[in-house]
Amino acid sequence: MDSIFDLFSIGIGPSSSHTVGPMKAANAFMKELKTKGNLSNVNRIEVTLYGSLANTGKGHGTDQAVIYGLLGYKPESIDIAKARLALTELINTNTLAIEKYHRIVFNPDSHIEFSGQEYLKFHPNGIRFQAFDTGNTLLQAETFYSTGGGFICTADDTTPKITTSVQPYPFNSFDELAKICSCSKMNIVEVVLANEATLTNEDKIYEKCHDIWLVMNESVNRGLHSQEKILPGGLNLNRRAPEFFKRLTHHKNIDSLNQIDWLNMFALAVSEENARGNRIVTAPTNGAAGIIPSVLSYINQFHLPITRKVSTEFFAVATAIGSLYKKNASISGAEVGCQGEVGVACSMAAGALAHILGGDIKAIENAAEIAMEHNLGMTCDPIGGLVQAPCIERNAIAAVKAVNAARMAVYNPNESKVSLDTVIKTMYQTGKDMGSKYKETSHGGLAINVSIVEC
Ligand code: SF4
Repeated sequence: MDSIFDLFSIGIGPSSSHTVGPMKAANAFMKELKTKGNLSNVNRIEVTLYGSLANTGKGHGTDQAVIYGLLGYKPESIDIAKARLALTELINTNTLAIEKYHRIVFNPDSHIEFSGQEYLKFHPNGIRFQAFDTGNTLLQAETFYSTGGGFICTADDTTPKITTSVQPYPFNSFDELAKICSCSKMNIVEVVLANEATLTNEDKIYEKCHDIWLVMNESVNRGLHSQEKILPGGLNLNRRAPEFFKRLTHHKNIDSLNQIDWLNMFALAVSEENARGNRIVTAPTNGAAGIIPSVLSYINQFHLPITRKVSTEFFAVATAIGSLYKKNASISGAEVGCQGEVGVACSMAAGALAHILGGDIKAIENAAEIAMEHNLGMTCDPIGGLVQAPCIERNAIAAVKAVNAARMAVYNPNESKVSLDTVIKTMYQTGKDMGSKYKETSHGGLAINVSIVEC
């Protein structure tokens, strides 16, 4: 089982695989240079983006993320305003400060190569760094893969860099998890927290979970109160959440489907913040970062306040489900299409909400299964390579779908013919069968039928 805090990590938009992962990779490369005492000998750094990272890298801000990483910024602690100033300075001067007194020429146009035709073997999101000295001798080279959700691994060690520990209740499938629960007389939350306690003490788990909710809530509020009218990138997409908020808070004639409006609005707020490259929680990816905060905000608004207990239980159940997708399928749009991002977030949110609504383990499984079953086959075809259309609205639709799935499973239980394990397997098979043009390349679907008109 992944740690809750690996699956829900604080980062910046717009993409966990195309922004957060490459930033971490650049960071790791620089750290290695430093550890080996090579930093002061570096005269040139070359970066090559492969496959999906190259094809949608411009729209996803991959080149900028690489520069942030080379400059030493980390996704979890980055000061966005400061980083943007440093980026502008680098672009204006073509100079990269790699140590306090050591600067090298770095021209993003010539030192970052986009190699979209070339797909590396292990994963569609490949990135290679090379550092040379003044004599043009290669000092260090490393190939990384960004495998989704901000996780990275290297070509030599394809195990993603995650926090590991010996867990008392390891499980590889929902079926195994259900057996553990039945034998130990524990529920999913208790099992997950027992595993998590091998990494973090229990009080701290509650505190950290609540902090994650607070960052999510902050991103909802920033999105609702943003003064920015149009999102950057050239698609000229309006920010809709601020107007939506004014309408919902001032409009008195509320109809019976009003809760759907709130869900939509919360999801739009976070997804617009993500598209702007602002601070959000990866949940479990950035493209799908609006769904879980929307469902939690909905609980907060219409059911019960998000206390430490509620946030911890919600994230525990969501992590159990998300871990299974990550282990047995993929949470990378470049590998399995949007079903692996928005579909997985929808499934995690549905299962976690089913628990909060009082559903038992069957209801949780059923909610998570329904949510994915009706996202199967969903492609990734972002217009202009931007995480905006269809992504932003898709988060809103998925948040509503998650609530619908949870309510159906809890209030109208039925013997399901499809298990969660089966739908996870099916999602992965469907993703593997999907043509690569529908997997985060912007070579198919909406991306080729809607063009960005520069004005
Ligand atoms: S279509 Fe889905 S997977 Fe693709 S960039 Fe948008 S949110 Fe991510």
